[in-house]
Amino acid sequence: MNKKIILIDMDGTIANFNKSILQKMDKKYNILLSNGEITHFRIEKNFEKTHREEITEWIEEKNFYLELEPFENSIKYIKEIFSHQDFDVFFCTSPLLSTYCIPEKQEWIKKYFGEEYLSKIIFSKDKTVVFGDILIDDKPSIHGVNKTPSWEHVYFNQTYNEENSGRRIVNWKDWRKILLD
Ligand SMILES: [Mg+2]
Repeated sequence: MNKKIILIDMDGTIANFNKSILQKMDKKYNILLSNGEITHFRIEKNFEKTHREEITEWIEEKNFYLELEPFENSIKYIKEIFSHQDFDVFFCTSPLLSTYCIPEKQEWIKKYFGEEYLSKIIFSKDKTVVFGDILIDDKPSIHGVNKTPSWEHVYFNQTYNEENSGRRIVNWKDWRKILLD
């Protein structure tokens, strides 16, 4: 039997990208958004226009990616998925074309998963050309040159993708319910 190929996004799916921005906005401007107020996938679009440029600058700063926190339980349970006999698993992440993004994402995987996982990272601006059975991703809709991607998009649950229909992982601890279905 062929193993199922599972692709797992990083930002907003394993790494808590938004938390870092929300904390910076709270600290610097005393603006704290609640979870329900985050309706846009692009974090800067949840704030007034005057703040957006600064937020995108923060994302490009050194150490931004390196210092992201993993979501609760994510590392432990994703390691379980990696070690499951029925799966071949890869991280599938769309990098910013900034100086620090790619090396820091690699460093982050090494830090939380271990060096042996470095060969499991697929960087692609266009995930539709990456082959797989399932792509777990928080992005509400994923488009690219391939109009019929091989994978099923399973949502990693976030307030900004709640409207999308499809299977979803709400907490990594429940991965079996979706992936062994
Ligand atoms: Mg993402």
